[in-house]
Amino acid sequence: MGVRYDGAFRGMHRDVIARRGKLLINKQHKGAGPRYLRTLDYGRCHHEFRSQGGLAHERVFLDTGTTALLPLPVRKLERRASPHTHRWYHLIAIPCPRGPHEHREPVGITTTPGERDDGQSDTETGFHRAEHLLQIPEATAAHQHLYGGREDTEAGFSQLDRSLWNRRMIAFGADAQSLVILCFLLAQNATSAARYQEDPI
Ligand SMILES: [Zn+2]
Repeated sequence: MGVRYDGAFRGMHRDVIARRGKLLINKQHKGAGPRYLRTLDYGRCHHEFRSQGGLAHERVFLDTGTTALLPLPVRKLERRASPHTHRWYHLIAIPCPRGPHEHREPVGITTTPGERDDGQSDTETGFHRAEHLLQIPEATAAHQHLYGGREDTEAGFSQLDRSLWNRRMIAFGADAQSLVILCFLLAQNATSAARYQEDPI
């Protein structure tokens, strides 16, 4: 289904996972400050977006003369498949005194020339989208709920390392290595089941 990883995963890694249609739970690294995203013009009103913490925010003007970034609620995470790649979107609700708007913002993938209309791809506009907009940003309940399990996977990986000779993968190629992982997990589950039967408490 996807990948759960610490803050070491950056945009270039996220891009590959999202394009394959998989989900990523990953903390945003500290250096990713707010970036200008777009301004939506609805005629009588306009809304300026910036990315922060992997999520689109609206820049609002305060009566003190300063501005603040307000997180925009994500109604839905959408995935669209095409024969060669996947695309991901946040369906965003924009609160507005003139009536709420809805906007679909691409996330998780940095598009390259040819993937959008001329001059409109992220590479051409200079917005590293996979770096600044996450499928499942940290400020969401889904992230909070799932990220905690990462430490369990680390314990599992550490077990795997220790089970291998010299802590090295004992097979070549993705197929053979997947088989090693699968067998390791089966053995772990079988051991856990046996231990539980011996001592159910
Ligand atoms: Zn508006």
